[in-house]
Amino acid sequence: MSIPENLAAILARIDAARKVAIAPAPQTALVAIAKTVDEAGVREALNAGQRLFGENRVQEAQKKYPALKAQFPNLELHLVGPLQTNKVRDAIGLFDVIQTLDREKLADALAAEQDKGSKIPRLLVQVNTGEEEQKAGVFPRDAAALIAYARDKKLPVEGLMCIPPADDDAAPHFALLAKIARENGLSTLSMGMSGDFELAVKFGATHVRVGTAIFGTRAPVNDQEI
Ligand SMILES: *Cc1c(COP(=O)(O)O)cnc(C)c1O
Repeated sequence: MSIPENLAAILARIDAARKVAIAPAPQTALVAIAKTVDEAGVREALNAGQRLFGENRVQEAQKKYPALKAQFPNLELHLVGPLQTNKVRDAIGLFDVIQTLDREKLADALAAEQDKGSKIPRLLVQVNTGEEEQKAGVFPRDAAALIAYARDKKLPVEGLMCIPPADDDAAPHFALLAKIARENGLSTLSMGMSGDFELAVKFGATHVRVGTAIFGTRAPVNDQEI
């Protein structure tokens, strides 16, 4: 199947899942996760009408997107990988949404740029719902405090994101993320990947992040792949 065919099939599956969901979000957007996909692949998706893309590395995105963004002004780029504080300035210049705010130090670095007059991308707090030590994200019990911390600094926190443990049933993780969002008055929920995005729709996802089901299997990468 081609990239346009895959996109059409996934959009149809999102629609179908929304129709049978009891309480779907008002809208569910597809974020095409294009890490390791070359510029030609991203362009194919753009030509098929896809506009939301996600990347997990700042440097890779810096190479791929400036030209594409110039050609497609409504391309919306999401950072879905961990952000180091020394890359904050590069990231805010390129991404429209940062889905991986996960610690106070990063909030501090973003706030410092905001104080200097920079526009800060929309932010999602990444919650480590499975409390996996090696994984990024704030633990569920610390999420409210981090959200409050970022809000206190007037950062544009819009919602939450999670990556459930690979071997778990994702349902309780999606339910927990939705509960934390409700408790904190947040409306954006980024959850669900190629293997479980329909389940995420059922739990109220506003954004699903799908990579391999659109672009095919990724070449293995030798660093942390989340
Ligand atoms: C790679 C990645 C995805 C997409 O995963 P697939 O299983 O290829 O759909 C989603 N979210 C994040 C954070 C990722 O790094």
